[in-house]
Amino acid sequence: MLQFHDKFFKPFISAQSIDQALDRMVNEIAKDVGDEIPVFVGILNGSFMLVSDFVKKYPKPCEVTFIKLASYEGVKSSEDIQRLIGLTQDLTDRTVIILEDIIDSGNTLAEVHRIFKNEAVKTLKIATLFYKPEAYKKDFKLHYVGIEIPDKFIVGYGLDYDGLGRDLPEVYQIKETQHMTNLV
Ligand code: 5GP
Repeated sequence: MLQFHDKFFKPFISAQSIDQALDRMVNEIAKDVGDEIPVFVGILNGSFMLVSDFVKKYPKPCEVTFIKLASYEGVKSSEDIQRLIGLTQDLTDRTVIILEDIIDSGNTLAEVHRIFKNEAVKTLKIATLFYKPEAYKKDFKLHYVGIEIPDKFIVGYGLDYDGLGRDLPEVYQIKETQHMTNLV
């Protein structure tokens, strides 16, 4: 059990399960991409750990870049997505794969699509390590999904609660009711 500020978190997804999900995603993407050199676009902050592990596993040459968006306030997703760092390179005619840490409401993904609307990329595909199907409110296709999870807040493996927990190699899920007597 972990505590960050006022919230408690219980172990949820092991580092080994994450590693296996990444292997599956890498294999599928490498197969689809073929001999193209893809550009992986990580969505910061949450995707830094995923992108690092993903590209180390990717078996062929690839490029990596990031955009930085912010939407979450505490444990709630917000519609108001801030674009903190946009695209900094020309992706005309490139095979682009977005690497998202997690897709929840899909608001962040909608902003990603707005960013790419005016880019003449060859293909744009979306990969996400974690996906909350019950929370997803958009119609954008998700091409590669690592692990489907319930609509509950998680931390670890890049994902934070109020800045904490990003460094954890595994994932923890929020514990909604916590009685102090259970805490040993
Ligand atoms: P969406 O815009 O799809 O609602 O949420 C996407 C972004 O919100 C993610 O990139 C991530 O930063 C944040 N997010 C969504 N769900 C969670 C969660 O369960 N835990 C944490 N820590 N962040 C989340």
